[in-house]
Amino acid sequence: MPERPIGILGGTFDPIHNGHLRLAIELRDSLKLGEVRLVPSARPPHRDQPSATPGQRAKWVRVAIADQPGIVLDDRELLRSGPSYTVDTLAHMRETLPDTPLCLIMGADVFAELPQWHRWEALFDYAHIILVNRPGVSQDYPRRAREVLERRRGEAQALHDSLHGAIHPCAPPPLEISGTRIRELIAAGASPRFLLPDPVLRDIMDAGIYRPAGQTPA
Ligand code: ATP
Repeated sequence: MPERPIGILGGTFDPIHNGHLRLAIELRDSLKLGEVRLVPSARPPHRDQPSATPGQRAKWVRVAIADQPGIVLDDRELLRSGPSYTVDTLAHMRETLPDTPLCLIMGADVFAELPQWHRWEALFDYAHIILVNRPGVSQDYPRRAREVLERRRGEAQALHDSLHGAIHPCAPPPLEISGTRIRELIAAGASPRFLLPDPVLRDIMDAGIYRPAGQTPA
């Protein structure tokens, strides 16, 4: 019998917010995951580069999860040089966790673009995917994403019964929060309070990140 599955939530975390944190807790509890690892990417190959530095983003993850059991920071992508390819991260985790189901968590926005990722089909040799609905994001996926979902769709139990290869779609209670929205609010001089943990917001404001030059904190 494999060990309890581990959830892996990769992202830019620019900044980490309550959408990420609630998602991690809901999935840990509802799918009986052993833990959820938050994996900030250093140089995401598929999107704009983050505004905050890797050091700042990792620090915010650390303060956000400081007293939260079962949610942990995994900073291996920040310690590696070159682009952060998820398939390499999973292969690396698999070396030290040979008997643990690995479950890559991704929102519907990310899943729609999966077929453009480096060696994306090889992901299923290492991990399952937990596919999460996201408010405002269509589930009308492009053809290749739709095909792989139909071929690999599995129940929650599949995440416990095998080490890799299934896609489990689920719909945890939606929270309409994103890094983009938080950056836009701060840039406009509006308050993003309660969308993200207070210590993270304080640090962003103290350091003047996301704010146009010359603007004072709200
Ligand atoms: P940005 O707006 O900068 O793209 P983000 O919050 O969408 O920021 P990431 O930090 O890169 O993005 O997100 C990491 C992962 O968490 C992605 O798989 C994303 O789909 C998922 N995610 C982020 N926010 C939510 C949310 N509110 N509900 C469900 N999934 C989310």
